[in-house]
Amino acid sequence: MIPDAETAPLNAFCVDLEEWFHAFGISGKYTDPVTWDDAPQCVVGDTEDLMRLLDDAGVRGTFLTVGWVARKYPDLIRRLAREGHEVGCHSYWHRLVFELSPEEFDRDIGECVGLLREITSQPVDTFRAPGFSVTADALWSYPIMRRHGITTDISIVPAKRDHGGIAGFPRDPFTMETAEGSIVCFPVSVMHLAGRTIPFSGGGYLRLFPLSLIKAGFAQNHRVGRPGMSYIHPREVNPDQPRLPRPAIWRPMALLKYLKYYVNLKSTRPKLAALLREYRFGTVAEVLRRHPPTSTVRLALRPATGTRAGFELLPSAS
Ligand SMILES: [Zn+2]
Repeated sequence: MIPDAETAPLNAFCVDLEEWFHAFGISGKYTDPVTWDDAPQCVVGDTEDLMRLLDDAGVRGTFLTVGWVARKYPDLIRRLAREGHEVGCHSYWHRLVFELSPEEFDRDIGECVGLLREITSQPVDTFRAPGFSVTADALWSYPIMRRHGITTDISIVPAKRDHGGIAGFPRDPFTMETAEGSIVCFPVSVMHLAGRTIPFSGGGYLRLFPLSLIKAGFAQNHRVGRPGMSYIHPREVNPDQPRLPRPAIWRPMALLKYLKYYVNLKSTRPKLAALLREYRFGTVAEVLRRHPPTSTVRLALRPATGTRAGFELLPSAS
């Protein structure tokens, strides 16, 4: 089915542009950034492959780019920008936000957006945290993002997950007022299934879920007029990517992660091609122009709990 360009819902297509070893939960030879240059490099070939898939479908997407990748392969990032894709920031060193201090996050995001702006000559105003790691304890990161010119954040999964995720978080795009200015939050798509709220439209879910279930997720969101958001990593279209070391059986969480990373890898590409045929996709900026936020909340500081100051979302004062 070819989606109708005028009436079909527009969904965001996002790529977290990183190397095959930028995966969380499994330690290996290339966990430490000082070893990254020694690792087999796949990101350019895999990204070009993904770009061909998007070209075939006439889709432009938002490529959230790891600064280290951009520094190493600036021509790839320039090409993405030249060909009409949106380039966003996925941090410089691909570390989980909730594991960083505000000062470390400040340095990291500053370094990344500065580099991406220099390479692309684009504003670079969209951010996604590695591993969707803006948790309820890491909302302190919003004023820092805003200070660095980030005006759209797509870091939050409004559901409970292994790392990252905020259960009960709004599901529609909304504006968040911070001490440093406003940011539009566009949460990752989730669906209700058997009494649970779960993501369905990207990454591992493309491998684990049958196409019919993914389509049911899109339908749930479209029924209430909400745009969907798909995301993928370049490595996921490459079934021959190098493998992280298989964790031992006595490390069940890491082993489960390993199985999730590599199960059904061959199925990702045909499922992605089917989704690109079935639905209309565009960049995050395009989707937000069509579905601007309809509500505003205020991000407020509350007294410190534990070692860190806490934040909460309050009704907007205006
Ligand atoms: Zn990532």
